Amino acid sequence: MKFKKSQKLYEKGLKNLVGAVNSPVRAFSSVGGNPLFIKKAKGTKITDVDGNEYVDLVLSYGPMILGHRHKKVQKGVDKALKKGYSFGASTEAEIKLAKIVCDAFPGMDKVRFVNSGTEAVLSAVRLARAFTGKDKIIKFSGCYHGHQDSLLVAAGSGLATLSMPGSKGVPEGAVKNTLIANYNDLDSVKAHFKKHKDIAGVIIEPIAGNMGVVIPENNFLVELKAYLETQGALLIADEVMTGFRSKFGGAQELLGVEADITCLGKVIGGGFPVGAYGAREEIMQEVAPLGGMYQAGTLSGNPIAMAGGIATLTELKKQDPYKKFEEIGSIIEVILLETAKKYNVALTVNRFGSMLNPFFVNSEVTNFVEAQLSDTKKFAVFFWEMIKNGVFLPPSQFEAWFLSSALSDKDIKIIAEAVDKAMEKVSK
Ligand code: PLP
Repeated sequence: MKFKKSQKLYEKGLKNLVGAVNSPVRAFSSVGGNPLFIKKAKGTKITDVDGNEYVDLVLSYGPMILGHRHKKVQKGVDKALKKGYSFGASTEAEIKLAKIVCDAFPGMDKVRFVNSGTEAVLSAVRLARAFTGKDKIIKFSGCYHGHQDSLLVAAGSGLATLSMPGSKGVPEGAVKNTLIANYNDLDSVKAHFKKHKDIAGVIIEPIAGNMGVVIPENNFLVELKAYLETQGALLIADEVMTGFRSKFGGAQELLGVEADITCLGKVIGGGFPVGAYGAREEIMQEVAPLGGMYQAGTLSGNPIAMAGGIATLTELKKQDPYKKFEEIGSIIEVILLETAKKYNVALTVNRFGSMLNPFFVNSEVTNFVEAQLSDTKKFAVFFWEMIKNGVFLPPSQFEAWFLSSALSDKDIKIIAEAVDKAMEKVSK
């Protein structure tokens, strides 16, 4: 397999782009080598500029749940493009997407569209503060909620990949109201409430995907929500990754929890830049123009992005692929575990529906500390061998793999053969 053209573009890109990428995790820093440059994608496959074709388990870090360029999405977006790109005024498409989203999440009477998951979360945190009149927010170590200042501490995703504890440029004042708790550990949340009286809410990835996949144990979320109610604090579910992916109604539907505020992104734009936050009526009444919490956006509710979201969610509802996700997900999980056993490689696989990833460790992974025990050198070897055998994975131990509803038996065969070669290499 040759990467000559990618290499050339990488060198060219270094001149005017930072590290030749526009998001750090794309930089291959933790697996070595240089990033691949992509030419096109269709269905389950992604093709780089050298013409190498891969089964895509990155899916743009989640959004492409139907696979790439699904014909219904393409049609919806093509139609919207012909009418204009952005108006700075309301369109019917926003109302349509809002209804689909609110119908899927019973805890959401109203939703506000923004342009990214980061924006959704920063607005949700502002809203929690506006509604409760309290300042402090608890986040969990290893959860990533986008790159706004106040939550860029003990974060997963790119920060975990680059082994960075936080970010330069975040002033102390910006994080003084952020408290850190341990995932799957309600006592660590309670300890903060014993110390502080001004906690507005707790933000959580209901199924964590940014320290690798980490699953909430037993009734962790239900118990967390019940406890927060006793404290007058809000549960903010960051479903940017899990919304419409774990289930049509997100992780909340699956786990039987109703958050006070929900953040969405990724799938709801079907590959176009969309984020959203929503809540029940009394909370959303705080948002301008109804209330005093200001939040705005020139391109928010962009008609092309709305068309991408409407087409994606409509098709997703029709396909109802969640049973298929469970089946394919468990097949891939078994492939990983049995192949690891065959080559005597220590491996733990965490999976929730269509999100999964392997950790090169013998012990279970239930939180960030345990996730960090994974042998990332082995992951790097595994990653490159998967690439060489036609499977595109996130270039990081701490990112989830995503499945699309387009995956076929042929794709699974490619994955199985690649896993065999990669595990063999890891074992040497
Ligand atoms: N929240 C979660 C759970 C995410 O996984 C991400 C991104 O991966 C974000 C927020 C930030 O979203 P975006 O990258 O669209 O700003």
